[in-house]
Amino acid sequence: MLIQTTFQPEDLYNAVHELIRMAYPKHDLCQGGPQQADVKLHMEMQVVQQQVALTGCIVEGNKRTVREEKLDIITSENNRRSETNRLIRRFAYDLLVEHKGYSINSYGILTGMRPVKLAHLLLDQGMRPAQINRQLKDNFRMSPDKADLIMEVAANEYPHLVRGQESQDTVGLYVGIPFCPTRCYYCSFPGAIYQPGDSLQVFLTALQREMDAIAQCLKETGKTVQSIYIGGGTPTVLSEAELQQLFEHLHRLFISAATREITVEAGRPDTLSLSKLKLLKEAGTNRICINPQTMNDETLVKIGRAHDREGVVQSVIWAKEAGFKQINMDLIVGLPDEGKQDYQRTAEEILALAPENITVHTLAVKRGSPMAEKEGRESVGNRIKTVQEGLNMMGNMFRDSNYQPYYLYRQKYMQASMENIGYSLP
Ligand code: SF4
Repeated sequence: MLIQTTFQPEDLYNAVHELIRMAYPKHDLCQGGPQQADVKLHMEMQVVQQQVALTGCIVEGNKRTVREEKLDIITSENNRRSETNRLIRRFAYDLLVEHKGYSINSYGILTGMRPVKLAHLLLDQGMRPAQINRQLKDNFRMSPDKADLIMEVAANEYPHLVRGQESQDTVGLYVGIPFCPTRCYYCSFPGAIYQPGDSLQVFLTALQREMDAIAQCLKETGKTVQSIYIGGGTPTVLSEAELQQLFEHLHRLFISAATREITVEAGRPDTLSLSKLKLLKEAGTNRICINPQTMNDETLVKIGRAHDREGVVQSVIWAKEAGFKQINMDLIVGLPDEGKQDYQRTAEEILALAPENITVHTLAVKRGSPMAEKEGRESVGNRIKTVQEGLNMMGNMFRDSNYQPYYLYRQKYMQASMENIGYSLP
């Protein structure tokens, strides 16, 4: 199915195309041209001094929706461009919602990865939380439950943000180890499969060269490293000797008194042992991620993970024995054939392990993943109600056990009402 768009001026497209895709997720979008299209959308804009005049029309079969508005641009000269952009997006959103007859995105006109950033920005400007909550709903068209969620996350996150001079003088360092023991069914990451016994020495040598160059760059700009995240892939496919070598390099180049947090993604229990976890702890790691995704053994087989729930439990026991005081566990809602009972059982088993952080992801089916190739990118959308119920249920269970949402991000191809949320014990 095709939706044909025409804009006057043409660059209106850049401001609104994501909203159109949300309203028509199964349509291809084309700009202009004498095409046979299932839907035609036209928008025009004129800016005269402090006013923007917008007109829009959608034609779909026999249905035709027309909207016209004149909106005042009330802002300083510095913010004029972003405010005009917001008015254009809000107009397009209202036009699409009027035509469809239902909300197209519970985050309203916000389509980016970090909607909480807007709340932080407004808090920085001295606005009170209740005012921001109202703005999110009125000016950004966010649904009341999402506005409440954003404000809850912002309140928990805001005191911990690095700001002022420290934010100017420090950086966060991400070290990617793009190897995994097997490929997950939903993975679109361009990594390689690591076979036991493979030597990663060539990769490590290249990584060290890159780290040397980055260290030189930081030295020249006078910056220090505030946090390090070793992610992947699965960094713990590295042998103990290889991890030792990596950490020696990190200590020599980056780790200092300014380094507050070092996280290692130890995602796959099949790559862990007590001695490897002890080595990571002794090397300075103070946060570790053990990621079951689900505690259902049948699902773990279906998604191509070479470990079972027992392996997850054992890994957490080892991590605690190794001395880790910050353990994060990632879960995914929306995995194949999982329903409410699976989500409940997984949440109960994770709560029994009492990690300090739990991150709940909504499955996003990305281009290039085996899942997208086999089932199509709509496979989660078809189960959207169950997935939403699972997210709500897990959120309630974690809140009831004293976990608070402290960070939130969204992904491309994520369903319109969903997000990934990190929960933390106080
Ligand atoms: S562990 Fe992560 S990077 Fe590795 S295959 Fe699975 S999803 Fe991809």
